[in-house]
Amino acid sequence: MSTTLLAPHIELRRFTHPYFNANAWLVCNDEHAVLIDTASNGNDDGARVADFVAASGRSLHAIILSHGHPDIFFGIKPLRTRFPSAKVLVAKSEIGDDIVGMAQTMEKFGMLPSPDLSASVTDYRAMLEVLPEGGLVLPGEHKITLRPWVTPGPSEFTRLTLLWMPEVQTLFASDLAYNHVHAWAGMGVDRQSLKNWLEYLDGVIAAHPGPEVRVITGHGPVTDSNVLLAQRAYLSDLLRLLDDGVRGEALEAAMKRRYPGHAGDGFQLHMTATNPVWSST
Ligand SMILES: [Zn+2]
Repeated sequence: MSTTLLAPHIELRRFTHPYFNANAWLVCNDEHAVLIDTASNGNDDGARVADFVAASGRSLHAIILSHGHPDIFFGIKPLRTRFPSAKVLVAKSEIGDDIVGMAQTMEKFGMLPSPDLSASVTDYRAMLEVLPEGGLVLPGEHKITLRPWVTPGPSEFTRLTLLWMPEVQTLFASDLAYNHVHAWAGMGVDRQSLKNWLEYLDGVIAAHPGPEVRVITGHGPVTDSNVLLAQRAYLSDLLRLLDDGVRGEALEAAMKRRYPGHAGDGFQLHMTATNPVWSST
């Protein structure tokens, strides 16, 4: 857990899941807060995130789910119970479809953390509302705008929601960038996704240039826009190794050597290196 002052009266609090290094970000003014993602792999984690939100002393205005990966939404049930008046928001209705689809996939592979998180038990669509196009404004004396941009094609996932907060010059980059954590290029990511990913990074770098822009990512601590360049380099390295025919354990070892300080080598990197799609392309 850590707290960063983004501006007078505007605070950013970080909850981290120890295994996935996934973040749930709480953006707060003096009275209200908005939670971005749940950094959870089930109800117990979700209950811990609810405690973290409650400890801020702010009233929770909304929860934004940035995409359909399990660590983004599997903590939602305890949060709904503890904060029934907070809206649960997605930037596009298709992200609701992604969430339902992922819950079904997890169930099919026997990977649901608990049976109540099945899409046939929990009506995910019914709990979601779509963000207004201009974004969400956190009410209070010191307003904060969260302006969404959704990636138009698959990259780290089918769709990712980035959020620009102009008042505090802060970009939530979702999983388009990982900060000192190995990026997910496991199941669902193929070569075209990696190429799109690089293209979207270029667009975001052009839109938010300069290290004075603060960037917060789905994984890893608060940083600046250099993380977008670092993610570009990481993906280029991965593509080059794939082009050279490096696969499996050799790929894992090569990326570990290239990025020795990165977390997530036991999970994200392993899943990336063993992604079956590389052998067929
Ligand atoms: Zn993700």
